[in-house]
Amino acid sequence: MAFTTAPKTAREDLVARSLAHVWHPCTQMKRHEAQPPVAIARAQGPWLYGTDGRRYLDGISSWWVNLFGHSHPHIKAALADQMERLDHVMLAGFTHAPVVELSERLSALTGLGHAFFGSDGAAATEIALKMSAHYWRNTGRPAKSRFVGLAGGYHGETVGALAVTDIALFREAYAPLVRLAATVPSPDARNAAPGETPEGVARRSAAALEAWLAEHHADTAALIVEPLVQCAAGMAMHDPEYLRLARALCDRYEVHLVVDEIATGFGRTGSMFGHQQAGMRPDFICLSKGLTGGTLPLSAVLTTDTVYQAFYADDVARGFLHSHSYTGNPLACRAALATLELFDQLDTLKANGVLAQRIDAACAPLTQHPRVRHARRLGMVWAWDIDTILPDFSRRYHQHAMARGLVLRPIGNTLYAMPPYVLDGEAVDCLASGALDALNATLQEETC
Ligand SMILES: *Cc1c(COP(=O)(O)O)cnc(C)c1O
Repeated sequence: MAFTTAPKTAREDLVARSLAHVWHPCTQMKRHEAQPPVAIARAQGPWLYGTDGRRYLDGISSWWVNLFGHSHPHIKAALADQMERLDHVMLAGFTHAPVVELSERLSALTGLGHAFFGSDGAAATEIALKMSAHYWRNTGRPAKSRFVGLAGGYHGETVGALAVTDIALFREAYAPLVRLAATVPSPDARNAAPGETPEGVARRSAAALEAWLAEHHADTAALIVEPLVQCAAGMAMHDPEYLRLARALCDRYEVHLVVDEIATGFGRTGSMFGHQQAGMRPDFICLSKGLTGGTLPLSAVLTTDTVYQAFYADDVARGFLHSHSYTGNPLACRAALATLELFDQLDTLKANGVLAQRIDAACAPLTQHPRVRHARRLGMVWAWDIDTILPDFSRRYHQHAMARGLVLRPIGNTLYAMPPYVLDGEAVDCLASGALDALNATLQEETC
């Protein structure tokens, strides 16, 4: 039998089948006519291996979820063991060891006594907002049902979460569906006036929050913030003083403080949780992404005993009414426990301090590049704003980085790295030299 065209390779076949039937997230699918998606066959440590045999350094931890590299033996063993015992059971009316132990661990780590589980970050946002408003209803103040967030904040993209996600592109098309929350100025340290310190920006932004709360506290349930780094806004970093002041204002005006640690949690900012650097205690903490080390979807909302007690009653309608079929899935909880065990076994926070300095040194030429503005790092998050006239810098840069075996996806003109915590010397070199080479190659296109 003769082929009229050459037979497709397995890789081309996978890409074609993906384009025929898979709707990819955060993607204008027509763009794939020019740049098809990359088919990945397997992953190990910080490396992704394509079906074409090429390997790519996962410089953004597969959208900020992976902590200890892919296919970590400790997490794999825990999952295999759990699979033998209990795959899943509904959490209404039933309980099991992984969900109990994980709730205990998270409580010990945060000082918040109760954990409610969901599957994704956006679900955690929904849960925290609903719980806050329902708390005020249960305590006789049903008017407190509005929310306030920071300019540029990101808390997920379901209809409820979009209310507090202040990113126009993600919200515009769905605006009629969304009950918009208020936004107050971001304490982003890049907003500093000449001579103003990051702490000064934090104080000025907190003053704006105070003015807003003074007027609207009677119908406001909660303030929601991403502590220390507003990641989706382009790694906008702020001084911890903002969180201390926000805590005091929320106390004064009787408004809950929700910290969304979905991206900043689990060592990403240098401490286990970002808000801990401000020495304050929030009313709600949203967790997801790194919670399972990047293996399975799971999210959790932690809250205080005070909030919990306001729902504890004979009346069913006073209970928290929110259900997901997979709430507290044993496999996902077991992966989370194994991930937390790794923090202890590897002394991760300390080891990351050393690794981060090594990456700083390797990235010095990038940091000193004449087109870089506001080079910044907190913990294991690096960001460089690029001064360029290219309208689609991000897409072009991503292609040049991929050609160098490196996964980086700038947000607008902000180039950032958020790698897994397991880079060896070779991986650090790939990140640092690949990021710099890709920048120079992208800037070359300005003159084309
Ligand atoms: C990613 C993210 C979310 C949403 O999590 P998903 O699992 O993608 O729904 C919410 N908040 C922050 C801060 C995030 O970075």
